[in-house]
Amino acid sequence: MKLQDRSQVEALAKIKGRNALITSFYFNIDKARQIKKEIGVSLKHLLTTSREKLEAMPLDKDTKDSLLKDLERIGTYATEQITAARYPGIAVFAAGGDGLWQDFSLPDPPHNRVIFEKTPYVKPLSAILEEHRYICVLLTDRREAQWYEIAMGEGRLLDTLKSDVPPRVKPAGFLGTLEKNIDRHVNAHVHEHFKKAAQITFDLFKKRPFDWLFIGTGEEHHAGLEDILHPYLRERLKAWLKARPSSSADQVIKEAIEVQKSVKKKEEEALVDRLVTELEKNGRAVSGIKETLASLNSYKVMSLVVTRDYAAPGYVCHACGRISLESAPCPSCPPKLEPVSDVVDEAVEAALAKGIPVRYVSSPSRLDRFGKIGAFLTYKNVP
Ligand SMILES: [Zn+2]
Repeated sequence: MKLQDRSQVEALAKIKGRNALITSFYFNIDKARQIKKEIGVSLKHLLTTSREKLEAMPLDKDTKDSLLKDLERIGTYATEQITAARYPGIAVFAAGGDGLWQDFSLPDPPHNRVIFEKTPYVKPLSAILEEHRYICVLLTDRREAQWYEIAMGEGRLLDTLKSDVPPRVKPAGFLGTLEKNIDRHVNAHVHEHFKKAAQITFDLFKKRPFDWLFIGTGEEHHAGLEDILHPYLRERLKAWLKARPSSSADQVIKEAIEVQKSVKKKEEEALVDRLVTELEKNGRAVSGIKETLASLNSYKVMSLVVTRDYAAPGYVCHACGRISLESAPCPSCPPKLEPVSDVVDEAVEAALAKGIPVRYVSSPSRLDRFGKIGAFLTYKNVP
């Protein structure tokens, strides 16, 4: 299935392997950057090293056989996708023993990896998802309007409007009363057209709420159009585009995706600035993996801020869900913490399962100096 919204990742974050271990598989099949043969070689290599890793794991024969079967099925699926897929990445979460199989088409290429653990490795999936916003693009001139939606790196035309606006009179120097009246009449029509366009935009929003709105129209219309937008739309208006109703669909989508990246980057910077400000005044925030995990364990986290690709090994208590860097047992649980390859992923899963937002920032950023991870807290941290 196509990766498209948070509920898919949240559902995955709640899955725990009942009997078997879960295989999490991420694979880059970006045909724009590599030829099919190279992708095939990468796949073979990934499967071979995973099989070796599995053979070396201290598991009983049945478990191992079941995982090897999952891996084989994933291999078959990935081989098909190298030819069939239109997307640059795929992910599979499988546990034959538990009847689990979920595959995803990804809008961005992931790092190749295979992980065998009790829970699905969801961090890369959630990072890709957070990279993309659902965007509505409105293009309008004095007479025509078009709407596009941009989702997960793809765009399509949603709707069009052609209003009946008479052409503007060209005043030859002095404007007579008649021409002034015609001009006023034309302007009223243009205003009507913009009002209709704003209403259709709001109707689209009600049907499927978008995160951001981009508008392409002449600069002379910016203020007037912004004025008549519903407040919900005005707060989502993030950029003015160069595209116009006369632009080709390819042009529009390409510009919107580029602009999305720069808006996203600015948003990340603002987020890190807010976090650092909170940290520096000892406010409602923590940073560093140890403090962040401690806050998450004690239900104090309001939102998690993670540097992409940051990972650290550690331990998890499968009884109470405590995540830790050390293997010291929980006071109230059976004394067994299990090692995990990445506590950052565990933290992301815990947050998503509880509906706590996870935000990602790209390195380098100011967060690097604060241990690459942090969190906004529901109340002030008292160490
Ligand atoms: Zn515990």
